[in-house]
Amino acid sequence: MNHDSPSLHARHQAVLPSWLALYYERPLELTHGEGRHVWDAEGNRYLDFFGGILTTMTAHALPEVTKAVSEQAGRIIHTSTLYLSRPMVELAERIATLSGIPDARVFFTTSGTEANDTAILLATAHRRSNQILAMRNSYHGRSFSTVGVTGNSSWSPTSLSPFQTLYVHGGVRTRGPYAGLSDGEYIAACVADLEDMLQQTAGGVAALIAEPVQGVGGFTAPPDGLYAAFREVLDRHGILWISDEVQTGWGRTGDHFWGWQAHAENGPPDLLTFAKGIGNGMSVGGVVGRAEVINSLSANSISTFGGSPVTMAAGLANLSYLLEHDLQGNARRVGGLLIERLRAVAAGLDVVREVRGRGLMIGVDLVRPGTDEPWPEAAALVLEAARERGLLIGKGGQTGATLRIAPPLSLTVAEAEEGAGLLAEALQVAQGQL
Ligand code: PLP
Repeated sequence: MNHDSPSLHARHQAVLPSWLALYYERPLELTHGEGRHVWDAEGNRYLDFFGGILTTMTAHALPEVTKAVSEQAGRIIHTSTLYLSRPMVELAERIATLSGIPDARVFFTTSGTEANDTAILLATAHRRSNQILAMRNSYHGRSFSTVGVTGNSSWSPTSLSPFQTLYVHGGVRTRGPYAGLSDGEYIAACVADLEDMLQQTAGGVAALIAEPVQGVGGFTAPPDGLYAAFREVLDRHGILWISDEVQTGWGRTGDHFWGWQAHAENGPPDLLTFAKGIGNGMSVGGVVGRAEVINSLSANSISTFGGSPVTMAAGLANLSYLLEHDLQGNARRVGGLLIERLRAVAAGLDVVREVRGRGLMIGVDLVRPGTDEPWPEAAALVLEAARERGLLIGKGGQTGATLRIAPPLSLTVAEAEEGAGLLAEALQVAQGQL
């Protein structure tokens, strides 16, 4: 494959920060996309199994979204939240209804970070407290307040936090003190931890923020019902539940439209944050929640670009397509098949410790063969080898040794089979068999 673009790389190094992480040794310059494929500057085609970090939710260059964006741009690009626009109100109506939160209000932002910032601000204003609970191994963004609730120091550029953050167990249980517990035992242990933690605080914790399936954390999900059990404790203390659905929303996990619905026994979250996929690549984020909580901020709390009509039009067209084509059902079916294929591949390779996933959110943990030791270097090798074969995937996880697979939700069975075959070859490279 031909894929060098050294001059652009040199220019990039001269003007962009050193800490921008590029995935490949020879950086990839993407020029266009269609469906589940993208092309680079040299004309090489790739099957996209990472969808722009889960932002390309339906498909690249989806004609319905492109048309909605260009028509809206031809009318008016920006109105600001000082004025109304029809696309903003219509998208808010649809999200409020879909959220499952009674009497819901929606506030639009331009990113997931800003959505979580706003949710934290709302919770602290509503509860008049700056104590926040977060999960170990969580990721909620890179602003000052979201860094303050990041549950893994390696993803946090600063150890300073504006909050008194308490980290609750519950995200990961394949290793450490919780390994080997049954679902019920695990939930009971996490609830006991939470109760202990609340005993130690002087009271007045504002909220728990949690991802139903941890994204950057390596696509790890706690047992169904964990947050319902937490909810019972939180309610007793008047603490709000913020569900960060930036990666899990819109049916990606297959069985549910939102991640919180796997923990629905005691009702929906008080606040739900979303971003990434809804704009299909356009910058749309937001927070939806109970009116009583959302209305805690003053009238001056606006976002200049949040709710911009062009991005709202993209969101509306994208959401309509997603619902009309039952992409949640597709994520369940095709995701299930992909997980099955990858487990079959993994059975013959001792570099793979675990293949897990929900719908089209699939994590593959790599270890040094014959050991239980995470192997991040192998993840980098697999990414390079997959790219050579025309497949783009992501990586991450607690130690950087997890492959992350999250294709657009319109992935076909044939593409899933093709991608599994390409990934099998790339894994064999890491194992030293190719
Ligand atoms: N929350 C979660 C769960 C995420 O995975 C991310 C980004 O990866 C964010 C928040 C931050 O979103 P953004 O990068 O749009 O600011």
